[in-house]
Amino acid sequence: MDGTGLPEIRSTCPYCGVGCGVLLRPDGQGGMEVKGDPAHPANRGKLCSKGSQLGQTLGLDDRLMSPRIGARSAGWDEALDMVAERFGDTIAKHGPDSVALYVSGQLLTEDYYVANKLAKGFFGTANIDTNSRLCMASTVAAHKRAFGTDTVPGTYEDLEEADLIVLTGSNLAWCHPVLYQRILAARKKRGTKLVVIDPRRTASCDGADLHLAVAPGGDVALFNGLLNEISLRGKIDHAFAENVTGLEEALVSAAGDDLSATGLGEAELRAFFDLWCGTEKVVTVFSQGVNQSTSGTDKVNAILNCHLATGRIGRVGMGPFSVTGQPNAMGGREVGGLANMLTCHLDLENAEHRATVQDFWTSPEMPEAAGLKAVDMFRAVGEGQIKAVWIIHTNPAVSMPDADRVRDAIAGCDFVVVSDVTDRTDTARMADVLLPAAAWGEKSGTVTNSDRTISRQRAALTPPGEARPDWEIIAEVGRRMGWGAAFDFQSPAEIFREYAALSGLAARFGRDFDISALAELSDADYDALAPVRWPVSATRSGGRFFGDGRFFTPDGKARMVPVSHRAPVSGLSDARPFRFNTGRVRDQWHTMTRTAKSPRLSAHLPEPFLEIHPQDARALGLKPAALVRVTNDHGAAILRALVTDAVRPGQVFAPMHWTGETAPSARVDALVPGHVDPVSGQPESKAATVSVEPFEAAWYGFAVSSRDLSPKAEYWTRTRTDAGYRAELAGLTTPANWEGFARDLFDTGAEVQAVEDPTRGMHRFAFTVNGRLEAALFISREPAAITRDYLAGLVGTDAPAALSGRAPADMPDPGPTICSCFGVGLNTIVAAIEEHRLMSVDAIGAQLQAGTNCGSCRAELGTLLEAHLRPQAAE
Ligand code: SF4
Repeated sequence: MDGTGLPEIRSTCPYCGVGCGVLLRPDGQGGMEVKGDPAHPANRGKLCSKGSQLGQTLGLDDRLMSPRIGARSAGWDEALDMVAERFGDTIAKHGPDSVALYVSGQLLTEDYYVANKLAKGFFGTANIDTNSRLCMASTVAAHKRAFGTDTVPGTYEDLEEADLIVLTGSNLAWCHPVLYQRILAARKKRGTKLVVIDPRRTASCDGADLHLAVAPGGDVALFNGLLNEISLRGKIDHAFAENVTGLEEALVSAAGDDLSATGLGEAELRAFFDLWCGTEKVVTVFSQGVNQSTSGTDKVNAILNCHLATGRIGRVGMGPFSVTGQPNAMGGREVGGLANMLTCHLDLENAEHRATVQDFWTSPEMPEAAGLKAVDMFRAVGEGQIKAVWIIHTNPAVSMPDADRVRDAIAGCDFVVVSDVTDRTDTARMADVLLPAAAWGEKSGTVTNSDRTISRQRAALTPPGEARPDWEIIAEVGRRMGWGAAFDFQSPAEIFREYAALSGLAARFGRDFDISALAELSDADYDALAPVRWPVSATRSGGRFFGDGRFFTPDGKARMVPVSHRAPVSGLSDARPFRFNTGRVRDQWHTMTRTAKSPRLSAHLPEPFLEIHPQDARALGLKPAALVRVTNDHGAAILRALVTDAVRPGQVFAPMHWTGETAPSARVDALVPGHVDPVSGQPESKAATVSVEPFEAAWYGFAVSSRDLSPKAEYWTRTRTDAGYRAELAGLTTPANWEGFARDLFDTGAEVQAVEDPTRGMHRFAFTVNGRLEAALFISREPAAITRDYLAGLVGTDAPAALSGRAPADMPDPGPTICSCFGVGLNTIVAAIEEHRLMSVDAIGAQLQAGTNCGSCRAELGTLLEAHLRPQAAE
């Protein structure tokens, strides 16, 4: 209870792998207040912009309320019977490997456990893979090669105890903001040095001591160079090296690698080597920039080699540290949600491990070899080898590489089941059976964050309509297929106890993952479970791994793996002269099914874009705010050019969030080939090659509306606002009747005011109902120069001068949102900097509140400030 007398429920944020604790207070009307949990060890009360706006993502307008078979509603019995029958028949006719499950790091551990048990123990196939394959499979593979198990050695506290933090392939400021804020606080306190290794200058580089704009794919050469220096400077820890094999071989490989592959100058390399070699307490943080590569596993091993050679692992303030993208990517790894893992970090190919699990599950059969990893799985779907696929809480038609081919493969599959909270995803639209699942605020279970902390996620809302928790849906199918005893789960607590007991058996094989001390939790204890870092057994609890020099390999020693630089598979050519990098933006999550519901989050970067260097923009003749067409042999996208020197000449970057629902021409994973790392099977999502050319539209448009829009144009993107929607449009052919076009777009018969000048290609329409603006459309021959954020705010008002497209002098346009917590726009911030001659981010905060809550925007505030202080300093 808090001061209001309403109950507060402790849960976890459903976005990134930081795993922040939240306090939820339902309002009794389907919404709830969300605050950071001061008692949670991951965030100590802080939340980033995404976590802070969770309350805006709970609306039911797009929720799937009942099961569907094709286009019609169905009862649960009919839908589940059909799933059980079709999967059973397919297995009987074509064998267990003719079916597959593709699941998600959004699943809770209990959901994951039941899905894995059903696929591997009862279907008899290892064809269950998770979208975490796209996120951190290379780390899993490298951990197993080096440590014998997939073990994250350190803890978040190490980030506060380190003297040097190296962020490599990790834009922590935007992708794990609360962790980044912890680092900034530690820097302030103890002067921690920060190095960022990234081909782009990201928000994480703001204030860093060193930014190394490494060439795409150059990380192995860089860390091999470091290992070589460690050796040359006599920094090998020979005492710790007694616990390691492969040192000599790794050193030979490192010495043979060519530093020119890093693309870095001698002075930059020297500065990095000096810092790393001269600082004992080093933590190297890495994520997708390292993992999403055809040499991702080698990249991670190159990093691990440096820590193993120096004994900087498992001790306070030092170690390699993988941060996971999704809230329960770690839980999925632990439970065996990847096609090449069993469960509790046991190995599928190990007969003893297999027999132990089979015996424990009393399952009829178990696969003896790894199943198909994500890219191969959807290839097999496309080739007809997989005839029935069940996709749970993920959107592979958008997020997989070669996304257009994956979309076609799913469309052509004999039987597609999708469990999701909405029917409005590119994937859900192709389902034969659509199952309504409970959403984040309605589900109960556990998740594991990046530092091995298991936290409870607790239901605060009742699932709407007929939606049900995933574990219940999956267990129902298991029961209907004749395995009643194995799937007779009545609660997530029961599943967790079974899982914890199994981890105790796994530990007998010398595995790291052991939570057997939680196997006897009562329902009440489970419900009250406080965050706890594994292992949790009779002999071990929490803490770091490997400080004692003991690893989980047969001889107990770590392996240094000799690795050498390999270039990205896609080669640059005259036809494909740009290296294409993909990633995330600060305020959107994955394919936007939740974050796009929040007007605040949508106001940060409302349109898909392509970052391109000014030199390249000039060479291509790009006009301001131009659209560009990006193409290669795999697909094409139309994106707004964002001209910036944050990317190097010859490199371009695009965020991967937009979909057929929000911007159909901006499905950027359609441009990513399905090249994978040979060990981990993780695709190379950051090093495609593309050509870029201006998209010469005949007209450009901007629209605002109180209701959803139905755009029909070669390019469009649609975004939520406080008052409704806004959209950008562009087309190749000019409609004969612009008013008719506008009425179709808004589906309206409302009264219209128009200003048109056909000779200049200018057409403006404002539709009003009872004197209030319902919708407006602005068309021009060039990208429209109008005050967009101001116009978006006019919907629902009497808006007398909307057609001018300009904010009046006494009502300045706030500009795109920079601070999501307080809704402070770029123009407002710039005006305050200039008017009040603000000299620091804290001064901006004091003036406007921006940056004073979650801190996610502080790096952008710093960049804005720097841009404005530069000319002032020169005056
Ligand atoms: S850092 Fe942000 S997105 Fe990640 S768990 Fe915390 S609040 Fe959620």
